[in-house]
Amino acid sequence: MEEKELLYEGKAKKVFRTEDPEILIVDYKDDATAFNGLKKGTIKGKGAINNRMTNYLMKLLEEKGVPTHLVEEIDDRKTAVKKVQIVPLEVIIRNKAAGSFSKRLGIPEGTELKCSTLEFSYKDDDLGDPLINSYMARAIGAATQEDIDTITEYAFKVNEVLKEFFKEIGIELIDFKLEFGKTTDGTIVLADEISPDTCRYWDIKTGAHLDKDTFRRDLGNPEGAYQEVFARMGFDAE
Ligand code: ADP
Ligand code: UDP
Repeated sequence: MEEKELLYEGKAKKVFRTEDPEILIVDYKDDATAFNGLKKGTIKGKGAINNRMTNYLMKLLEEKGVPTHLVEEIDDRKTAVKKVQIVPLEVIIRNKAAGSFSKRLGIPEGTELKCSTLEFSYKDDDLGDPLINSYMARAIGAATQEDIDTITEYAFKVNEVLKEFFKEIGIELIDFKLEFGKTTDGTIVLADEISPDTCRYWDIKTGAHLDKDTFRRDLGNPEGAYQEVFARMGFDAE
């Protein structure tokens, strides 16, 4: 599988067309951004780590019955995926309070939630990805009720699988963001990535941040945090 022209360059990945109209190639970059692009930097080795971690987790999720866009890993940084029409919603699941949830609701980070929660943001960088509810998502045509039901079911399933997986390697899954898309036949699949860029991982023993908060909050050594999760997942650090 070879890449043709660049279709899109995002903040963390490039997306290429291939000779197959149904298949894209994503190329993960080391670039890191936060606060809707206001803070920019590089986390050396991040592209390869995020690519390989995402594929590992997507394979695991496929086995557990969650369909994904994954086709095949091409090399360290590149993966062939099914081309989908992205549902313009960021789907966020939380197990403990952190980040914008803590700020918005005045609940200290790390507070246990009585149940896991799901929220939608409308995917629009110019608007700063505003929080919306499912009625609003339907009203603006971002998704149908059927799409929302499927996405909700898959997102909570992803949470169960990932929570368990990360617990085994000493990591607490605090929250994460998913994106879903529709294939040409209308099937909803999990797309985009699952990585320390898109999840909050806290070390169970020490509470240390092993994710992009190291970069967002200048906690020091983001490379080390990404490598730590990678190594605990059984990958050989380069
Ligand atoms: P951003 O667009 O937020 O800067 P990225 O740099 O990660 O993010 O860019 C990757 C883009 O590719 C995102 O807009 C994402 O929604 C999109 N994408 C992810 N998976 C697929 C897919 N299978 N088909 C089409 N687009 C996808
Ligand atoms: N997240 C993401 N992309 C976004 C916004 C959030 O991947 O554009 C992830 C983030 O890494 C965290 C979860 O979604 O794991 C919840 O993020 P939150 O809403 O707390 O946002 P914050 O303002 O802290 O980035």
